[in-house]
Formats: sequence, structure tokens, C-alpha cells
Amino acid sequence: MERYLNYIEGQWVPGSGGQWFQSLNPATGEVLGEVAQATPEDVNRAVRAARRALDSWRLVPAPRRGEILFRAGEILLRRKEELARLMVQEMGKVLAESRGDVQEAIDMTFYMAGEGRRLCGETVPSELRDKFAMCVREPVGVVACITPWNFPLAIPSWKLMPALIAGNTVVFKPASDTPILAWHLVKILEEAGVPPGVVNLVFGPGDPVGRALLEHPGVDLLSFTGSTAVGREVGMSAARALKRLHLELGGKNAIIVLSDANLDLALDGIVWSAFGTTGQRCTACSRVIVEEKVAEEVTGRLVERARRLRLGNGLDPQVEMGPLINAAAREKVHRYVGIGREEGARLLCGGDFARGGDLDRGFFYLPTVFDQVTPEMRIAQEEIFGPVVAVIRVRDLEEAIEVGNGTAYGLSSSIYTRDLEKAFRAMREIRSGLVYVNAGTIGAEVHLPFGGFGVSGSGHREAGRAALEVYTEWKTIYVDFSGRLQRAQIDI
Ligand code: NAP
Repeated sequence: MERYLNYIEGQWVPGSGGQWFQSLNPATGEVLGEVAQATPEDVNRAVRAARRALDSWRLVPAPRRGEILFRAGEILLRRKEELARLMVQEMGKVLAESRGDVQEAIDMTFYMAGEGRRLCGETVPSELRDKFAMCVREPVGVVACITPWNFPLAIPSWKLMPALIAGNTVVFKPASDTPILAWHLVKILEEAGVPPGVVNLVFGPGDPVGRALLEHPGVDLLSFTGSTAVGREVGMSAARALKRLHLELGGKNAIIVLSDANLDLALDGIVWSAFGTTGQRCTACSRVIVEEKVAEEVTGRLVERARRLRLGNGLDPQVEMGPLINAAAREKVHRYVGIGREEGARLLCGGDFARGGDLDRGFFYLPTVFDQVTPEMRIAQEEIFGPVVAVIRVRDLEEAIEVGNGTAYGLSSSIYTRDLEKAFRAMREIRSGLVYVNAGTIGAEVHLPFGGFGVSGSGHREAGRAALEVYTEWKTIYVDFSGRLQRAQIDI
């Protein structure tokens, strides 16, 4: 059995408590490896290592840091297929999507490597004579990166790469469901030449390992992607110590289908956004808001497509939908199906574990569609994080937007229409961080900002140049070369 160790100050080490946990294949139950569980004391050592490494790493010229990331990107590219196959096994998403996840990590690594030559500040004229004014970016310090399992390489790279290019050092605690992929990412960074202590890896449960990291006084920035419930705790921990905070949280994303839409296109977008990654994306479509006139047709065709989806082990090229991540996730989805029924929504398909043959070995759930959902129902308000879609019928665009905006979340939204005026009105009125027109709710690209309104995050953005606002401090510098006292706002 392969064993995977923590990485602290350039050393691969077991947990000081001597404990191990297993990583499982959610499609088969097979044990993929044993992982060394860190302790709060190991977290303490990792943070201290990151602090020590900060002094030299922040002074490495950013273009040189970029060269290391370019090398990491090349290794990821070379190993893309192997990592994608491992991802199918550890996370469960189908091979094409796993390849996409690795590609996203490659894209982000190369993108941020390029930022090393472009970590621009600002120079502006001073209001006083013979005085120079400029702003430069500096690293924030030690960054705690805590990530979920649904994008086991993409999300860690969305945090680690901007943190590193900006000169920060990192302690990374990945999700306990996908530790092996995190191990490979850190191994690749080591191979690419990231010096000891600059990236540290600690495995183990959110509590106590993640919590010890959040609470550690040596950490300057908490960068967390995960559920809104845990995000709240992370936010409170940051507030208590006045640490910088970056949260990427849940969603309750809607696709609006107007009656003039190309329905073939809309159906493709709904099926891909709702059942891709088995509905386990923060941007997954979990509500379809459809104009009455086409509601019967859209719902009927959606159910037909959902029933036809082939479930199974994602390594099989015929398979379109993999399992849920673990038993607890499947129980949660099933609980919500029960809630939907009790609330009076009409279950049109799915609503149960997928059973039979090899499916019995994994955490499979049938693609599920509810009709006659009203906007205030819990299945229309709360994140389910599984292959469950709620169809809500509306009169017109105005009602569609009101319903779409009517949750506490605000991550991703989409509208299908051929009417330019309606599309532009929706683009302006929809309250979410991502808006797609004539495309589903998923499919972010790494060079654009990503994040949500409301309880979908802390208002910051990941990816794109916007990420640098999270991972850098602004330092404003005034140089007075007049040789006399000049007083701003007074000597004018
Ligand atoms: P989660 O339960 O919140 O866990 C996320 C991470 O936090 C994991 O590493 C987890 O460790 C750790 N954690 C749990 N409790 C903790 C605590 N008390 N202190 C510190 N760390 C703690 O979320 P998940 O189930 O892994 O992921 C699904 C959620 O992530 C969904 O809500 C989804 O919408 C959201 N998500 C958001 C985005 C985005 O960019 N907005 C992207 C992807 C996913 P363990 O694994 O050991 O429990």
C-alpha cells in the first residue's frame, strides 16, 4: 500500500501522532493509499517553517519565481493524463472532466508564472513639487490554503500559484477526500525548484488540523474554498485575529430559459451544468427557471435526458456521470430529496441511490429532477451539492430575475434567450459574480475573476489579475527630493 507523507520545511514526514487515514475510490470503495495525518503540533512546525522561508522567498525576483512556476506547469502538462486518471479514481469525476481539472491547474500555473513579469504597481504624480509617488505590491506573508475535494488540482493551484508568484509562503491543507492529488501537486512544486519551507503540506481533518492552521498566530492570510457553513467559522477566526480573509463558498445557481431561447442549446447547457461532476460544482445549476410557455417542453426533455445518462466508473469512456464523493454526501442528497417531496415538489425522475451491478460498490445517485418547485422551498434555496435540479416556472423575464436573485447565494447564473434587449437587461440585473448568456452556469476561465455575491464568498475574487489583490499588500512610497519640508494638503 502506497503511503503519503506531510511536507514540512522540505522534508516528507509522517504525522507526529503516528496516525494514518485512507483515501478511497468513491466509485469502487478501493483503498488508494494511506495518508499521514498531521497533528496541531505538525501544523505549528509547518507555519514556523513558512515564516522562516518568507524572508528569502519574498526577495527572489518575481520573474525568477515565475520560472519555477513555468517548470511546474511543464511537469503538470507532461503528466496530465496520469494525473487525470488518478483524479477519476480519487474524486470520481469522469475522465474528460478530470482532464479539464488538470488543464485548469496547468492554465493557472502558466498564467501566474507570466504574472511574475507583470506584478505591476502604480506611479502617479504627487500633488507637491519635486516629490515622487508610487505604489508597489508586497507579499502578505504566510498563507493558509484550505481546499475542497471537488477540484482536487484546479482549486489548490488557484490559491498556491498566485500566493507563490506574489512572494508569499504557504501551508496547504487539502480536503481529506483527495489527499493524494494534493501530494502530487506539492511534489511537482518541489521538483520544479520551490525551496524548502515555501510550500508546506499538512493532511488531516478540518478539525483539529484545519482549525489549528486557521488559528495559528503565525498565519497572515486565510484562503478558504468550501462550504458556506465552514466559511463562516473561517471568517470568525480571521475576524478575531484581524487576519486577511479570502472565502470562496457555495452556490444555488440558476439557468433562466426564456420562451424565445434555442431550446436544444438550453437543454445541453442544463444537462451539462446540473449533472456534470455529479452536480458537485460550486457553480452547478441546481435551479432551472423557465417561462411557462416552454416549461412543459423543457421539463419533459430534461427528464428524458437525465434518465438516459450513463452512470459508472469514470474511467469507462461511455460513462457520463460518476459517483458522489462519499457516503455522507449521498445521504445528504437523499435527505434533500425527502425534503423536496415533503414540501410538495413533484419528483419527475431519480430521487434514489443508483443500484445494480458495479454501481453497488460506489456512492452513486440517480440524476433527479423536481418540477412544480416554488422559490421559497428549501430545495430552491439551499445548496444540495448533488445531481438534483429544481424546475421553477415563471411568467416572464422580470419574475425570472426576481426568483433567480432570491437566494442568499450569488455565484453563477445563466440565461438562454435570442432577444438581445432581454439578454442585456439580465446581464445588468442578475446579482451574481458570474453571468453566462446562452451557456450553462459552469466553465470559468483562469484569466478572469471568479467569485460570488452574498454568502457565496467574502467579496474577493479568485483567478485573473484580481487574485493578486488577495495575495498582495499595497505599499505606498513617497520620495521627496525637494530638500525642504513639504506638507501635503497645506503647502499648495
Ligand atoms: P467543506 O466541508 O467546507 O470543506 C472544505 C475544506 O475545509 C476541507 O479541506 C475541510 O477538511 C476543511 N474544513 C472542514 N471543517 C473545517 C474547520 N472547522 N476548520 C478548518 N477547516 C475545515 O466543503 P467541501 O464539502 O469539501 O466542499 C464542498 C463545498 O465547497 C460546497 O459548498 C461548494 O459549493 C464549495 N465550493 C466552492 C467553490 C468556490 O470557488 N466558490 C469551489 C468549489 C467548492 P476535511 O476535508 O478534512 O473535512
